[in-house]
Formats: sequence, C-alpha cells, structure tokens
Amino acid sequence: MIIQVVLDVPLNRAFDYRCDDATKADIGRRVLVPFGQRKLIGIVVALVNESSVETSKLRRAEEILRDIASCSAEEIALFQFCSQYYLHPLGEVMLNALPPLLRRPKPIAPPAPTHYALSSGGRAEAEAAIPARARVARDVLHLLQHNDTASVETIRAMAPGAIKHLKSFIAQGWVVPVKISAHNISLGNDVQLPSLNNDQAQVIEKISANTNKFHVTLLHGITGSGKTEIYLRLIADAIARGGQALVLVPEINLTPQLDNIFRTRFPGVTIASLHSHLNDSERLHHWLAAKTGEARIIIGTRLAVFAPIPDVNLIVVDEEHDGSFKQQDGLRYSARDVAVFRASQRGIPIVLGSATPSLESWHNAQSGRYQLLQLNQRAIQDAVLPNIHLIDMRRDKTQSGIGDALLRAIQIRLEKKQQSLLFINRRGYAPALMCHHCGWAAGCKRCSGKLVLHLRSKKLRCHLCGSESRIPTACPDCGNVELRPAGHGTQRIEATLAERFPDARILRVDRDSTRNKHAMRDMLTQIHAGEADILVGTQMLAKGHDFPNLTLVGVINADGALYSSDFRAGEKLFSQLMQVSGRAGRADLAGEVLVQTEIPDHPLYGALMRHSFTGYADALMQERKSAGFPPYVYQILLRFESVNANAVEDFAALATKLARELRAAHPGITVYDAVPAAIARVAGKERMHLLAQCASRAKLQKFSNAWHAALSEHNTKNVRWAIDVDPLDI
Ligand SMILES: [Zn+2]
Ligand SMILES: [Zn+2]
Repeated sequence: MIIQVVLDVPLNRAFDYRCDDATKADIGRRVLVPFGQRKLIGIVVALVNESSVETSKLRRAEEILRDIASCSAEEIALFQFCSQYYLHPLGEVMLNALPPLLRRPKPIAPPAPTHYALSSGGRAEAEAAIPARARVARDVLHLLQHNDTASVETIRAMAPGAIKHLKSFIAQGWVVPVKISAHNISLGNDVQLPSLNNDQAQVIEKISANTNKFHVTLLHGITGSGKTEIYLRLIADAIARGGQALVLVPEINLTPQLDNIFRTRFPGVTIASLHSHLNDSERLHHWLAAKTGEARIIIGTRLAVFAPIPDVNLIVVDEEHDGSFKQQDGLRYSARDVAVFRASQRGIPIVLGSATPSLESWHNAQSGRYQLLQLNQRAIQDAVLPNIHLIDMRRDKTQSGIGDALLRAIQIRLEKKQQSLLFINRRGYAPALMCHHCGWAAGCKRCSGKLVLHLRSKKLRCHLCGSESRIPTACPDCGNVELRPAGHGTQRIEATLAERFPDARILRVDRDSTRNKHAMRDMLTQIHAGEADILVGTQMLAKGHDFPNLTLVGVINADGALYSSDFRAGEKLFSQLMQVSGRAGRADLAGEVLVQTEIPDHPLYGALMRHSFTGYADALMQERKSAGFPPYVYQILLRFESVNANAVEDFAALATKLARELRAAHPGITVYDAVPAAIARVAGKERMHLLAQCASRAKLQKFSNAWHAALSEHNTKNVRWAIDVDPLDI
C-alpha cells in the first residue's frame, strides 16, 4: 500500500511512502516519515496503488499515529480550499492548523480525565472511612455525593489541598473518571437573564428562524446596543440543539471580562479558548476538547477558525471589520472569510457583528447576499449616545498636543471624580527627533522610517525593526545642540498631563506599558476600581472594554490618517473613532467626546458627530465605486523583498512581464505598475509590490494561479515573494 503524505515544507505537493498497515481510515491521520536526513510528522491525504516514483526508491513510512481521531473529510476540504484560494502549500496549511505538540514526532500522552464521579464502592465506603476532622476531604466527598459528576477545575477551586484528596480517592478506587457527553451539559437554567428590548428580540427571532441552512447575517449594532446578549442567546440555543458554537473575536478583546461573561452564563459548559497566548500544552488541551466535542463553546482569535469542531452548528464573528482577522504572513487568510466558508460547508448560520462593518460585508448586505439586521438603540434603558464635539485646532493652538478646551473638560471630570480617556494612536514620547536649524530628523539605518523618541528609556527606537540607539547630543549634519522632539506620542501626553494636573492619577496603556504578562489585566482592574483619573491610551483601550465611570474621551492627532495613501485609512479611522467614542458614558452617566482636528469640515467628522455609520459608509462606497476599488473589485498583491536592491528591481520587471503576458488569456484583469511598498525599507530589506485586480473573483483566482505558477518556474532565490489574496494593507 502507498500513502500520500503532506508535510510542513514549502512545496505544494504530496509525497509517496510505502506503508503496509495503512487503511482508508488513516486518511487525515498524522504519520511519521523520513524526509531527507530528518524525520517529520505529516498527514496522510490519500491511499494509492501506484506511485510515479519507482517502487524500489520509495521510502517506508515509520508509523501512523493513531492516538487521536483523524482529520475529517470536511476539514481536509477546508484546508484544500485555503491552500488553493490563498496560494499556499497544503502541507503547511494542514500542519500549521495543528497544535505544536501534535507536530512533534512522538505520540501524545492521552489527555487527563476532566470529570470524576463516585464509584459504587466509594458511595458505600467513603462516608465511614473519612474522619470528621478531615474537613477538606469531606467537602470533596460531599461535592461528589451531591452531584453526578464534578470537574477537576471545580475541585481544585475548593481548597488548596482538595486535589490531593481527589488523587487519594482515585487510588482507593472510590472515584472513577467519567466522559462528559452532550447530554449531561447543564446550561445553567437558573442564571438570571437580562431582558431583551424589541430590536434584540426581533434579531434573535430572524436568525433563529433558519438554523439548518447556511445563511450569513450582518448584525450592525452601535456600541452598547447589546450584541453580546444576542450572541449568548444564540449560543445557548445552539448548545441546546446538541451543537457546538464557534466564536471568533479580535485578539485584543480576549479579556478576563469576556471570559467571565461566558463562564457565568454557561457554568456547566466546557469552553475551549484558542489564541496565541496559550502555552503548548494548554493549546493541545483546548484543541482536543474542541475535537472530542467535550467543549461546546470554542472562543478564540483568528487561528481558532481552523479548530476541529465536529458538531458545530453556529459561528459568530464579533467585530468582523477588525484587521486582526487577517493574517499578514505565511498563509495570508482572512479568518472572517474562512469562517463564512466553513458555515457554507456545514450548512449553518453565521453572524458577523460590528458597530462599523467592513465595506466588503456592508456591500454584501446591500446587495442582498447577506441578511442585514440592525440594532439602533442602546440596550440599557435611558443610556444615551455621547455628545461628540469637534475642536478646531487652527484656533485652539497648542504646543503640548492638548488644547485648552480639552484641558478644561478634563478639569471638570477631575472635580466630579469621573474618569477621562485621551486617545492617541502613537506610542513613545514623540514620533521624531528633529533639528530645527537644518531640518535633519533621526532615521533608522535599516528602515525607511523615522526613529521614535522614548524618553523613559532614554533611547531612540525604530518601531519597524525594533533597533535602538542613543539620543544624539547634537545634529550630525550641522552640529546644532538643540534637537527637539516633533509631534506627540502617549508618553509626551502623559508628561504634559502630569505637569498640568499634578494630583491626578494618570495611567498610560500602550504596547510599551503592557509588555509584562499580566500588566494589561492589572491595569484594567485598576481602572475599574477607580484607581485612575486620566487614561492615556492607544487603540488597545478603544476596544471591548466597558468603564462605567468614564465620561470624557479626548481624541488627539486623528487627522494624520486622512492624508494616508492607503485607501482604507478613512474606513479604519472611522471605526476606531466610533469605537473609542463608545467608551464614554456607558452606564447612567452621559458621555462627551472631544475630537481635536485641523480639518473640522471633513465628511468623516460630520458622520462621526451624527453617529452615522450608514451615512459615511454610503459616501465611501460612492468613492470606491468611482475609483474602482474594493468592494467593487477583487485584488491580489504580489509582495516581494530582498536585501539586494537590484534583485528587487529585476524581480519587479520579471513579475510585470509575466503578468502582462498572461493578460491575453485572462481578459478583465488590470495589472498596475510595480511600486515601492508604503514603507519601502524594513530591517535592511527593500520592499516592493505589484497590484492586480478584477471585478470577478473567479477570473482573478484563475489569473493568480497562473501567475503564481509562472513565477515559481523562475529561479528567484534571493527574493522573498508571496501573493496576498484580498490584501488589507497596501
Ligand atoms: Zn541640523
Ligand atoms: Zn528600523
């Protein structure tokens, strides 16, 4: 028997091996095979009778690993779709979807049982055998006596020594492990449910009307309109019908807050979480819980879209517009789009939720491909939307970055003992260090970006490649010793505030201040406990957090994005500002948002003041339509880079020539000129790209396959290249 095996190698093909004991049931299983001098874990994708390799040269597979269930045919089809659509080798797609421990060439230990119950012997003997003074042991026994099963987690939480007693019970044969199946899941029916408003009730009714059919719902609801409650109700229903629910959220939203909401709501349900902060054994544990069906809710970031979910009957993508759903290297997939594919494959509903949907999803909703459902009121009664005001910075001139109007508003909040948040999407002290004599600015030697001044660490730091250097004492060009910071970052705003409000407790939340593992969690706790008066933060603070005592949001330096060359910059800025505005006044306190701008007449700000996503989206759609941009066309971007500038130029010429030649056979494709990337040099590598687009996704896919194949035939070893399908950052 010959098996075809895919491996985690950058070659888009399967490899043949002899394997005598292989059967059809082994398709989708891990297999240990020799590859060159190494031994690798691969996955069996087919059984064949003949190989194109001569039988005598065919190597023998070492062992098929049958420790866990194989990958299902549906999952293999999913991986094949991703491999073809995103032009990435199938082996890399499949192996990278596995937890790291399953990619190691050794079988895994069987997972430890998660639930225990009293054996009949234990029921008869334990009560008399445990002395009354052994309090913890008796507590553990009582828990088991009064419940059919108890989880290890619950027992561990009882008391420090509880696990030790459980182990001794196991040793005596008093308790035995039990398998938890979908039948004995408690949905926590005694949980007090919040009441729904009319909008919410209607949305739930419409989505639940059709649970056995593939359909996509775009749930457009303003911040605080109660989307989460809708997800929770749909999930409860999905589990009650015997299914699993997959919930995808942006990385930044995976907070203890969200965790609490789910665990309180579904106390008896095993929840698997999958994200990049788990260690290898946690990752394996959660992945297996999803695969065996023990976990009924799988919640995670983009990588969770590849989780094995045999019983899935509902998918939710929260904040569907968020850029973090798109992977920016390797397999450059969009988890949102892959999730829609999975739902169609399975024939189940999928809900995409957002206060500011991506224009792609908005377009699909307008054209009727998706069902559009809207929540227009805030769920909490009497809660009102914040008042948004623009501060014209052409009149409110300031050196410090914070104008008088904003300073006064902060002062009022301090007097009322309410919290303020200043939002600025730039960390560090100042984005540049300049000489005002000759115009010199400190730049990175390896990148085309400016160095960011970090006064705390007394360093200049490159935010592209991470390199650091000392702050120069004089201008290297003219010798001027008065070098000045230009522009504002979070640290500089923090310093200004500290000087102006010496008694206020100021908390800076950005990537620098949250580097340690629990820093973010600790800061959130501090904010909730009212131990901070003014927060200075980047977009990390804009999303998913609910601060009841926060009534003022100040936005600093937002204009920059409006001058960007990226045609999506306006869309991104709008959703960021809507989100950050949503932080103000969520409970019973009215909120106010002050936006400092030098272009107050810009339509983006007008729409923001009216809280009108629809108005701004319609305007952007008009622009996109007349410019011929997505969502009216589909795009692919060939990205390439090299330390050798000539090699990049040569590759640009080659790629352009091949693309132009292919156009004859692929009508309707527009091929642009190769241009330097927006950041043309990073860590010593010159970077360029070449854009191609087409109104038909199918035609573009055929073209990109042909182009990819043509490029692969050339020796381009000194250039790293990849085709990014549906690119987000151009
Ligand atoms: Zn100078
Ligand atoms: Zn650099």
